[in-house]
Amino acid sequence: MSDLSPQAPLVAIIEDETPIRKFLRAALVADGYRVAEAGTALAGLRLVTQSPPALILLDLGLPDRDGKELVAEIRGWSDVPIVVLSARDQEAEKVAALDLGADDYLTKPFSVNELLARMRVALRHHVRSPLAGNAAGATVYQDGPLRMDLLARRVFLDDQEVKLTKLEYDLLALLVRHAGRVLTHRTLLKEVWGPDAVRETHYVRVFVANLRKKIEPDPARPHYILTEQGVGYRFRDSGPGTHE
Ligand code: CA
Repeated sequence: MSDLSPQAPLVAIIEDETPIRKFLRAALVADGYRVAEAGTALAGLRLVTQSPPALILLDLGLPDRDGKELVAEIRGWSDVPIVVLSARDQEAEKVAALDLGADDYLTKPFSVNELLARMRVALRHHVRSPLAGNAAGATVYQDGPLRMDLLARRVFLDDQEVKLTKLEYDLLALLVRHAGRVLTHRTLLKEVWGPDAVRETHYVRVFVANLRKKIEPDPARPHYILTEQGVGYRFRDSGPGTHE
């Protein structure tokens, strides 16, 4: 262990490729985290049960077990933030891991800035009070011309009120409350339309297109509602300490 304070958040890295583990360790230690490492699912489970981490970085392609199963298993007893690391050809795996309760994902290769930004968002959402309107505990979201009052359920663009239907508002509010974090099609459908609608991916597509027309300064080049191809949507994070 290094000479960092014991208060530094502990991050568990579960990844079988040694060069990637080394890269992650160096990046995290340089940013003030403490790090514990495991190269297999079995060792990873032992690690996170013995010294519960503040966040888990989990590779989906482990030699002994499927990373998705590990997400489901950990979610059985812990709500610790889990950011999954996936290869380019693991699209379906990645979506399944998110639907099973992982908080976010990074596709290899990723940059240190991307990694640290995703981790900050996941940690911030985790400490959020359930009563708070969004990650910062505020009930008003403001980024550029867009302002959203989550208590009054009103949305403004350049001080002009934007009229939204109930479903449009619910969808936008869900995205804003999770700003910076990817939400899968399934999660959006379940939360806004209900559990019977989880396969109706086109609902989300249509409603996002309508929302973009109403709130995006340039709907063709979205600034707020970002598409995560094949996964879902991510609302732009205007929170503290984010990178472009
Ligand atoms: Ca691997």
